Amino acid sequence: MQTSDARYSQDDSVANVLDNLARAHRILEMEGHGDMSMGHLSYRDPHGRGLWLKRGNLGMEEVHAGDYILIDFDGNVLEGQGLRHLEWPLHAEIMLARPDVHVVGHSHPFQATVFGAGRARIEPVNNHGVWFAEHGVPRFDSTSHIITTQELGKALARVLGDADAVLQANHGASFVGRNVRDATLAGIFLEKAAAFQLTLAASGLPYDLPDADESVEKNRRIYPERARDNYWMYFNRKLDRLEAAR
Ligand SMILES: [Zn+2]
Repeated sequence: MQTSDARYSQDDSVANVLDNLARAHRILEMEGHGDMSMGHLSYRDPHGRGLWLKRGNLGMEEVHAGDYILIDFDGNVLEGQGLRHLEWPLHAEIMLARPDVHVVGHSHPFQATVFGAGRARIEPVNNHGVWFAEHGVPRFDSTSHIITTQELGKALARVLGDADAVLQANHGASFVGRNVRDATLAGIFLEKAAAFQLTLAASGLPYDLPDADESVEKNRRIYPERARDNYWMYFNRKLDRLEAAR
């Protein structure tokens, strides 16, 4: 079992990033994002050609470094073999709307999807919810359908705004980051925050929301770069242990 942290470094060659992005799919499956062969992440091509999107018909736990197609922002396949996910406009339009975003994920995490079927907002009631303290987690409810057109992709990107994640009512969620690490942590923390808040609400216990400004400051304090690196490496080691045991 390889547990050297060097393996999980974020060198910026496309091959290395796609290898990390494949691991991100498998980590997200491990952390509750799996739903048969649905769920996909993408990476903005650093040469400006478009984006690398996981190919279709694979479960998130089955994705490896070669399982991508390169598409332009109109969905034309430029490189790679395999099915183009119908929801490619979700990835393309978020990347067009958000130059700061280099990785987009979409999946059906169970707890977050239950949460998104209701109208409540994710709140910073635990440390995972604090990840979203600054921009919140908006909810896209103009359709529960899959995002298969550029028009729907633009509408979803508008609702996402500057946030790191968006709940898609009666469907799933999308999450973003400036790199593989941050998008993966956003996806994991969204699912954990939703699970925590569902449990809290179901308990019937009275509760108060923490101070909003304090939550934003807490986010910066508990999720600096070194902590993000640490959590990314932790989830990679956890994945290695799981895969070694299979
Ligand atoms: Zn979906």
